[in-house]
Amino acid sequence: MAARTIADVPSPSVTRRAGPQDACPGALRVHQAADGGLARVRVPGGLLSGRQWQVLVSAAAELGNGHLELTSRGNLQLRGLGTDAAESLAGRLTDAGLLPSLTHERVRNLLASPLSGRDGGGLADVRPLIAEFDQALTSRPALAELSGRFLFALDDGRADVLAIGPDIAVTATSSTTVRLLLAGRYAGAPVPIGSAVELMLAAAEAFLAERRAQGSDAWRLAELTDGPARVAARLGLTTSGLPHPTGPAPAPGPLRQSDGRQALVLGIPLGSLNTAQAGVLSAPRLILTPWRSVVLPGLGTAAAAVLLNAGAAQGLITDGTDPLNGVTACTGRPGCASALADVRADAIAAHAVAGHAVAAHAVAGHQAEPIAGPVHWSGCSRRCGRPAGTVIDVVATGDGYRVSSAGRSTDVGGSSAQLRVALCDSSNLVAAR
Ligand code: SF4
Repeated sequence: MAARTIADVPSPSVTRRAGPQDACPGALRVHQAADGGLARVRVPGGLLSGRQWQVLVSAAAELGNGHLELTSRGNLQLRGLGTDAAESLAGRLTDAGLLPSLTHERVRNLLASPLSGRDGGGLADVRPLIAEFDQALTSRPALAELSGRFLFALDDGRADVLAIGPDIAVTATSSTTVRLLLAGRYAGAPVPIGSAVELMLAAAEAFLAERRAQGSDAWRLAELTDGPARVAARLGLTTSGLPHPTGPAPAPGPLRQSDGRQALVLGIPLGSLNTAQAGVLSAPRLILTPWRSVVLPGLGTAAAAVLLNAGAAQGLITDGTDPLNGVTACTGRPGCASALADVRADAIAAHAVAGHAVAAHAVAGHQAEPIAGPVHWSGCSRRCGRPAGTVIDVVATGDGYRVSSAGRSTDVGGSSAQLRVALCDSSNLVAAR
């Protein structure tokens, strides 16, 4: 396929928002950050082939700063891109099949239960729905109007991706049926799994219609007045007030698949991979998760052991006791001009034990105490990349940090020891609830 160029991209006039422009970055809409261009590549369902991964690793090394970042929606970011890198990046992504639509590239935000069909943990195998959804989404011109923040999810019944807070989701209720959720509210009765994609896209079109009817510039379904109920009504459905369950993220480490092979879950410290760490993930298939981890499925026992050891040697998170498991951070200084602190260095210093492979600022002799996460560090009050749900927030204030959890906040200085104490207090507070 011939490489497309950014000159082929249609005018952004498809956007009808009356309010602030949706500046969410994409692969084609490169955001200029303090450390250079930032491109976000959507990866529906988190699925990547080994070849696609290599293309991304090479692009990061040759066009950017060498790092790949995982986002809270299971997408990937390249940073530090040169001013002339956008066209080359678009061509590489297109050739690798990572840019199938120029008009819809920023709206292909689809989560899927990462272990679906592999570990026997769900009620249905949603994997076949991923490609079907992506193809159907990108073939409907009107849906290019969705915000780059609008999120879809295919949950296989274990409720893991429901915890991320998708705008529109289906969750399996049996091996052959799913139920629609609109901003976390059940809508209608279970329907055959074969109609899941059509139902989700009809709901997305109903969201756009309702947004126009309200004269709203909402990016997310929950931002619309009575959004879930009104969108459901447009589909001839009613919503339920029943709470939906949420399931845990896959734990780091190896796990046995139903077919006897192994899947390896590797956590990415603070969601950022350097070139050497990215090289460890050279496997035939990869699944990115919204919990800043990567699943390498379908491995033989020996291959899984080799990858596990290589990951540990490079500082990847290979078991749930790692002090950086469940810790996330925004870009902070120096990459973001709004940042009041180098949050990533401060997070590592406060969480990591001395000797951790990524603990460049580890406190000598520091003894790690378990901190019940998740913990999110932010360089300012925008809290970019914050995970959904209950989180210990650590937000830079200019004089130090504000540590907040369970409705209580404490202002502390920036030293690792002070932060450590505040984190332990917050962790105890969360655990006691
Ligand atoms: S939270 Fe603030 S400092 Fe961090 S990336 Fe967002 S804008 Fe920048």
